[in-house]
Amino acid sequence: MPESNFIDYVKILCRSGKGGAGSRHFYRAKYVPKGGPDGGDGGRGGHIILRGDRNMWTLLPLRFRRHVFAGNGESGSGGRSFGKDGEDVVITVPCGTVVFDADTGEYLCEVTDDGQEVNLLRGGRGGLGNWHFKSATNRTPRYAQPGEPAIEKSVILELKLLADVGLVGFPNAGKSTLLSALSEARPKIADYPFTTMEPQLGIVGYRGGRSFVMADIPGIIEGASEGRGLGLRFLRHIERNAVLLFMVPADADDIAAQYQVLVNELEQFNPQLADKPRVLAVSKSDMLDEELTEEIAKTLPEGIPSVFISAVTGQGLTELKDILWSAIIDDRNRIETVPITHRPLDVRHRVQEEDEFIFEPTPVADDDFIEDEDWDEIGWEYGDDDLPEDDK
Ligand code: GDP
Ligand code: MG
Repeated sequence: MPESNFIDYVKILCRSGKGGAGSRHFYRAKYVPKGGPDGGDGGRGGHIILRGDRNMWTLLPLRFRRHVFAGNGESGSGGRSFGKDGEDVVITVPCGTVVFDADTGEYLCEVTDDGQEVNLLRGGRGGLGNWHFKSATNRTPRYAQPGEPAIEKSVILELKLLADVGLVGFPNAGKSTLLSALSEARPKIADYPFTTMEPQLGIVGYRGGRSFVMADIPGIIEGASEGRGLGLRFLRHIERNAVLLFMVPADADDIAAQYQVLVNELEQFNPQLADKPRVLAVSKSDMLDEELTEEIAKTLPEGIPSVFISAVTGQGLTELKDILWSAIIDDRNRIETVPITHRPLDVRHRVQEEDEFIFEPTPVADDDFIEDEDWDEIGWEYGDDDLPEDDK
């Protein structure tokens, strides 16, 4: 069984900002015809940064963001003025987002914690202005460093989705219908070994832009023993913390009894499931009149939040979402106290090492601070002698 079955997936083209060019400028004033070099440094290009956000539960908000480009650094200018840094772009992602190079499939990094920032693409460093290259042998360097180029990469973000709610019920309880009624999106599900038993997954929108993941997991109750085992393994594997939503149809002979049968079945196969928070939904309640509803309400099992719902009329669905949400939140808060071992981040991508910045002695072509006439007036030859000592 693959490690994660529910995968939310987006592909984005990212580009960091290029570094601004260093300036080759010479100080000039009325009575100072041949001032020294005073070209400032270019600004740094913007980074592309990923930041974990525990309130985000899917990559869906990024689905329509095909390109993410950081700002370019501005060129330096005379008077040793620094160019402005390019603007960083911070992409907020849910915790548990794994990033791959879309072209090579190479694993790049993973964002696991709330507030954690990973520098996905580093902005180019700004070039040094010409005043840095003044030396005893060359008092008038006519060159400056260009900025470092931008980095462009097509990346795939994958979220290992954890189901927040698992549906439990006999066949025809209305599980599939409820999932369809509540789902705002149906993320792609990764390869699953038993295609006929594919879990169905839905992202359920909740108030305030929040959402949770609901899974209809076939086989827990209704399947053959092989399928059931699969369903249980699945539940245990993907989510330590799923809230179990039990569904019993309103026309069941004895709702409390049927609920108890479901609980027994489940616990028999995996006692750990007994610890999970539970909610009971009486489905197809549109078949009940008020009188019958009241009558049945008295017979419902105690100690478990319950709600009458109808996926057809929408009755009780808001209340159901409220109940599920508070159960999920209790649970999510509980998880935080449990230490989780994370896969170590790829150091290359986590740390912005100051690797060697190769000096390019190319005069900056698009730097217009000095006109051709000025060069003539200044009158120096451009050649190897102009290079700083180290770069000869
Ligand atoms: P599942 O086997 O648990 O996935 O159940 P389904 O969602 O496939 O539903 C079984 C049957 O019940 C279908 O014929 C649905 O049309 C019907 N059904 C589901 N939800 C409702 C409901 O809220 N009200 C009514 N009246 N029928 C429903
Ligand atoms: Mg079904």
